[in-house]
Amino acid sequence: MITEPLALVLSSINAATDIAKLITNSSHVLEKAELNLKLAEIITNLADAKIEMTNTKELLSEKDLEIKKLKEQAQKVHELKFVAPVYKNDNGEDFCTRCFDVDSKAVRLQRVSPSEPEFLKCLECKISYETEASQRRRNQSYKRAQENYITGLEDKQF
Ligand SMILES: [Zn+2]
Repeated sequence: MITEPLALVLSSINAATDIAKLITNSSHVLEKAELNLKLAEIITNLADAKIEMTNTKELLSEKDLEIKKLKEQAQKVHELKFVAPVYKNDNGEDFCTRCFDVDSKAVRLQRVSPSEPEFLKCLECKISYETEASQRRRNQSYKRAQENYITGLEDKQF
């Protein structure tokens, strides 16, 4: 959380300010040793603030990278189109429907088994999808079997 180092920075600056006010408002003349001690406390508090500001700067850089990554992901997601049963980009690559719809993630599908080239798998959620070509072949062979069956019935009638 970015608020934690910022709270420490404010606390250190407040402590340094309080010590400076104490020196300024002091009714008696401070001994040199006492004054040096108070100045050392101010320097320590300012050094702590400087360290916490460096941590804050690093945290902000990480947040900037995270925002950039999320923007790129959102842009990618925006470019996908649903072509049942998967999402496709302009290059014709396939993306997982489940990961896109549930997690808003664009996860490219992979051919994982050479023995089953008609299936694409999501390596994120492990869901498999049948390729369009495989669906077309299956539908065509079903249609042919249906036609053969009808032709067979017609042949028997004559
Ligand atoms: Zn998935």
